[in-house]
Amino acid sequence: MSRRPLGQALLLLFGLTALAVLFVSAGSAAPAAQPASGTVSVEWFGWSHYRFTSPTGKVILTNPFTSNPDSPIKPEDIEKADLIVVADGHGDEVGSAVQIAQSTGATVLAPGGVNAWLVEQGIPMAQVPKRFFQPGDRYLGLQGITVRSVESVHGSELAPPTAAVPYGGVAAGYFITFENGWTAYFSGSSAATAEQGMWATMYKPNLAIVHMGADTDPIDFAEQVKMLKTDNPNLSTVFPHHNRVSPPQGQTTVSDVQAAIDAMGVGMKVTQPPLGQAVTFP
Ligand SMILES: [Zn+2]
Repeated sequence: MSRRPLGQALLLLFGLTALAVLFVSAGSAAPAAQPASGTVSVEWFGWSHYRFTSPTGKVILTNPFTSNPDSPIKPEDIEKADLIVVADGHGDEVGSAVQIAQSTGATVLAPGGVNAWLVEQGIPMAQVPKRFFQPGDRYLGLQGITVRSVESVHGSELAPPTAAVPYGGVAAGYFITFENGWTAYFSGSSAATAEQGMWATMYKPNLAIVHMGADTDPIDFAEQVKMLKTDNPNLSTVFPHHNRVSPPQGQTTVSDVQAAIDAMGVGMKVTQPPLGQAVTFP
């Protein structure tokens, strides 16, 4: 064991104190940004196609599958879009992303190889700024809005696969935090995963849009809702997606998933939003 001379020890002490003061004052000199006021408008166009309009008027589309049987709109009805998020390479997730991106100039975010494939399909490269947007990545290109990619427990086959891009890579979900701090989680087609509890803790979504496919086990949906409440007092609304307005006989319904949620004692209501009508938050 070595002993420092007293002078040297005092110098070290003063140095550390000065450093601590510097950090404390730097912290207090940079207050957290105040979120902008205003509301986010959310519209459902059938299947997993949602449109968000932000407090400052930015438009974000999810999985723009405008040829879904319940869609009240066609691609040409979408006059403005700033960002399109695609969850994976499947036809019902990509939808009319290429056509809408071409007509509106929207930026497109998709996971892994789907981005490169979308460029091959005709979206200008300048509109696909993230060639490999992967889980854990964030996008800050829409001023005041943060889009985060998370994994989706799902596949990402491309139709058609190409020589350069035979598979889409990891399927994605997205957390979108708007200018007013309000956050939506769009799950992609994910099955339940314990990681949803971690993301709920990290990003604290106010709205969750959860996959409810024809064959979704209601317990799987309910578990996702339970996970998304983990250390997250913000979650107030759960919408389903990937479903028909009136699911055919034998397909999973809102009543089915609600019964499973209630049986788990989770304490959350699932609401199917009105088709094509804006719902505003918060
Ligand atoms: Zn899919």
